[in-house]
Amino acid sequence: MPQPPYHTLDLHFLGRRGTIAAYFIPHPQGGVLIESGPGSTLPALRAGLAALGVSPQQISDVFLTHVHLDHAGAAGWLARQGAHIHIHPRGLAHMVDPTRLLSSASRLYGEQMDFLWGEFLPVPAERISAMQDGEVVKVHGLEIMALDTPGHADHHLCYLYADTCFSGDVGGVRLQGTRHLRLPTPPPEFHLEKWRLSLETLKRAPFTHIAPTHFGAFADRDWHLATLERSLDKLESWMEANLPTLNESDAALLAFSDWMKGLDAQAGLPEGLAEAYEMVSPTWMCAPGIQRYWRKYRSPEGQATAPAGPQPNGSEDTPSRTSSR
Ligand SMILES: [Zn+2]
Repeated sequence: MPQPPYHTLDLHFLGRRGTIAAYFIPHPQGGVLIESGPGSTLPALRAGLAALGVSPQQISDVFLTHVHLDHAGAAGWLARQGAHIHIHPRGLAHMVDPTRLLSSASRLYGEQMDFLWGEFLPVPAERISAMQDGEVVKVHGLEIMALDTPGHADHHLCYLYADTCFSGDVGGVRLQGTRHLRLPTPPPEFHLEKWRLSLETLKRAPFTHIAPTHFGAFADRDWHLATLERSLDKLESWMEANLPTLNESDAALLAFSDWMKGLDAQAGLPEGLAEAYEMVSPTWMCAPGIQRYWRKYRSPEGQATAPAGPQPNGSEDTPSRTSSR
């Protein structure tokens, strides 16, 4: 097989292999990154680049799929080394002034915040720009296209380069060594219908390989997208069967967790892999995401009951443009 025109950098999140990736695409002046990973894995990022003979100062551009800490946390540091950062228009302000992002994340992670995510430096405003849907950025002979792909987060982009789609979180979480997909559905922006539209966008897009941030490239695009579709259908069925009667958050979390474990078990995951899935897409984070979605868009009370204000995973709770159903 020919060498892919990019390198998967394993950021060894919490010392574990194969959970968070950054992708390095070389160009004549160094290269670009898709994702920066969190601040806590900067040493692994630097080691990965050094192994390729690249210094952080040779990273001309960083393309972020979204602002969540495991994807974008080290971007501010890379910007200070000279990189230009690219992101969805709705994520840009959070990178320049991450105060709200970090305070809501701190409420969620508490004393674990630093240990898990490390330092999140702001990106200087002159070192960041927004990419629109379908926009192509040309960097030293590379052409990278952004696709607006909400569903996991409203401000989510996928990137197309060569034969690969770098799918961030909207392509699901799929770890190496198994054919198993998990949907990361954190609050406050998980939205089933938007996710389905993004899936249609991906189906139309020209690529053969899909590379989720969690983790690595896969050559079976059709299987992956079909499984993503089935996973969204299964999740909707589960929500319809369970959420109307599970009013208590704790009960919903318990039922959801049992269901997720059941799916892991059906997949026959190799030793240790269920823990790795839980590490990058924890059930305790996904359950409130689907509950919030249900309350806001699917329950009879609808949007009237939706809480306002910044939400735990660090995104701003902006009003949705999609009408309630
Ligand atoms: Zn995310």
